[in-house]
Amino acid sequence: MVNANSLYSALAPYGFETTANVCYGSWRNYAVSILSAQYSIFQLSFAVRADKKDKNLAKSLRAELRTQLGKGLSTVLNQGNALQFAYRFDGKTPLVDQFVRAADAIAAALSAHGLTPAVTCAVCGGGTPDSLCVVNTYQPVHAACMHQKLETAKEQALENKENGSYLTGTVGAILGALVGSILPLILIISTNTISAFLYALVPLAAMFGYRRFKGKNDKVSIIIVILISLLFVALIDFFYIAYGIAEYFHASFSQGISLAFQNFGRLGQLMETGDIVQTFLFMALGIVVSWGYLTKTSSAEVKTTATLLETMRPNPMYSQGYTQGAQQSSFQSNAQDFAPDEAFSPAQSQQTDWNGQG
Ligand SMILES: [Zn+2]
Repeated sequence: MVNANSLYSALAPYGFETTANVCYGSWRNYAVSILSAQYSIFQLSFAVRADKKDKNLAKSLRAELRTQLGKGLSTVLNQGNALQFAYRFDGKTPLVDQFVRAADAIAAALSAHGLTPAVTCAVCGGGTPDSLCVVNTYQPVHAACMHQKLETAKEQALENKENGSYLTGTVGAILGALVGSILPLILIISTNTISAFLYALVPLAAMFGYRRFKGKNDKVSIIIVILISLLFVALIDFFYIAYGIAEYFHASFSQGISLAFQNFGRLGQLMETGDIVQTFLFMALGIVVSWGYLTKTSSAEVKTTATLLETMRPNPMYSQGYTQGAQQSSFQSNAQDFAPDEAFSPAQSQQTDWNGQG
């Protein structure tokens, strides 16, 4: 097993940094982020602007790269604003050597496909993005766009705090849970089997409804949604029993329901305890799986965006003009290399630098 931290720290000399488990930096002018997946497999994301609908792109990149990198390279995904490569590191060769080899091969393959490093903002699509920032993957962005994103999240949080309502949210959650319960019920009635994994849908649908109905998006919302989900899972179980009763007595479903109501105290005996436990376990699993979504409260959203901002760095492609003040001394020491008017137009000298590298 290759430890994520040992890879990330091995890349530090190349200017790579790590924030919240994501390692990010630049490689051959591509904004690159590295995320540990599992079993020594890392996801390497290269920021480009590709046609997301191009199905062959990822396939042909994968085929080409496998001839060079072997089976270490598994999947290639085209995310539109990034190409993602799943690459397995081995524990024998130095990690840096492996990374350099893989990243160089990837960069060469990308540019052979006309996919040059992205030069538009990942947020607004505009040109001359002055910064690089992790937005899902490491991307060129305008610093202003990222600050705007944070402001928007803060405004929405404030708006929700002032105008969000537990009542409308609860109504939404009930409607959502109702919709989320339909699929398990249909399956129960049409196949006469309890497909417990569908119960995982209930909390997800309930939270979706809660938010759609302008529910107050704080921690209380999670409790409301879980309680409503529990109620609905119990209801599905009740209907399942009613259906079983109706089948047993060759009665209609509505007669089954009324019989189940009349024998409410003995329902536990009519259904296998294991089945009941299973349904709630699956709902619990649903809660675990959708935890990220359920806990996306307004304040969590603000926090996430603020964390993203911590990863913001000047874009080396454009930042020279912005940081000129800080680099004055080094500029002066190299002054003899520049004609006087060149020294005063960093954008232009940057341009030549850039062409030279590319
Ligand atoms: Zn922008």
